[in-house]
Amino acid sequence: MVDASRRGFFRGRPKALPAQRPPWARPEAEFIARCTRCNECIAACPTGIVVAGDGGFPTIDFKRGECTFCRRCVDACAPQALTRPSEDTQPWALVAQLGDACLPRHGVECRICGEHCDARAIRFQPRLGGSPEPQIDSERCTGCGACVAPCPVNALSVS
Ligand code: SF4
Ligand code: SF4
Ligand code: SF4
Repeated sequence: MVDASRRGFFRGRPKALPAQRPPWARPEAEFIARCTRCNECIAACPTGIVVAGDGGFPTIDFKRGECTFCRRCVDACAPQALTRPSEDTQPWALVAQLGDACLPRHGVECRICGEHCDARAIRFQPRLGGSPEPQIDSERCTGCGACVAPCPVNALSVS
């Protein structure tokens, strides 16, 4: 039998890297306290990027697709672990990050991520003697994750 303290342990925050919660999530401790793991946000997400993560709490997986900021997950969250108090409330502060695996850094031409970025946050700077390298404009990037899955070498992450 699991005693109350152990149940509290299982509801605790995962010890690994902090999970990325769905957009408009409350701060992590509040989110964990409110989320009942009902999976309604998972069912509501049309792009399928909300998955059950550690402890069954919803987590974003950008390898499955992008966030369109449709807010269906927020609307589905009865205990308001996800909440959007005003029109101006930003979904999150995420920005795409470029890793060393990026093909142009190894002399291979590639512009796939730029073709998937509706926000036009990825620009390719010409380089003398090399393939143009992507540069991410953090002011424009919405953290939607649309660039992550198409990258053939998993060079992009969003954090
Ligand atoms: S805002 Fe829409 S696309 Fe983004 S995680 Fe929520 S349901 Fe999915
Ligand atoms: S899709 Fe990937 S490999 Fe290609 S330019 Fe973008 S980050 Fe680099
Ligand atoms: S996360 Fe979205 S907005 Fe940011 S660079 Fe990638 S595709 Fe563009």
